[in-house]
Amino acid sequence: MNITNQVFEQDRASLTIENSSIPVVNAIRRSMLCDIPMIAVSKVHITKNNTPMPDDMLSHRIGLIPIYIDTSIDLENVHLYIDKSGPCELYSDDISCTSDLIRIVKGVFICPLYNDQHIKLKGDIEIGTGKQHARFQRSVAPCYYMTHKGISTPECFCANTTLDTKCERCGKNKQPLDVQQRPIVYNLTFESIGGISTTDLLTQSIQVLMAKLQNMAITINQLEDID
Ligand SMILES: [Zn+2]
Repeated sequence: MNITNQVFEQDRASLTIENSSIPVVNAIRRSMLCDIPMIAVSKVHITKNNTPMPDDMLSHRIGLIPIYIDTSIDLENVHLYIDKSGPCELYSDDISCTSDLIRIVKGVFICPLYNDQHIKLKGDIEIGTGKQHARFQRSVAPCYYMTHKGISTPECFCANTTLDTKCERCGKNKQPLDVQQRPIVYNLTFESIGGISTTDLLTQSIQVLMAKLQNMAITINQLEDID
């Protein structure tokens, strides 16, 4: 597997993977999406909410606000609080936290508060993975598109599309035969959230994937021992 055209910025990255296959690239993508741990608000105790926004929708919005932590601490004793009256607009900036180690992303709009409207709540934090819920996802939109080597724009890989035409199904161009004989490469792009660098995110995703495969190999070996 070769990696070329790599651009790793703080919160977004793109790279081209050569000599690989769809299952391998997709396994890395899914690992990035589902298996990297992150903290999020998981329980919201609402003591006052006389806005038109229902409690469950308000809780959902609070849960999806990205929060970061750089070290591991006991999350049971860490809580977020909102106590705000209108008229104003409620943003993530209005959330206070009992621990200075938790960083809350600023500027996330929650809801408007009109005259005499008041929201008072407490949030409990948990650690989880994207497999449990989207609020724990540490990557945004990890995706790949395939091209033939030397081509930079997405191509049509649909079956039954005539060569060298624009595909009616996907709207992309089906390359002519001389291009189709070049190797296929995979262009992977993703963004990171949760204070993790894009290189760490990719490395951890691959480590999780390798650990899973090693576990599988150990299990298979044990089956052989029984026989
Ligand atoms: Zn197509």
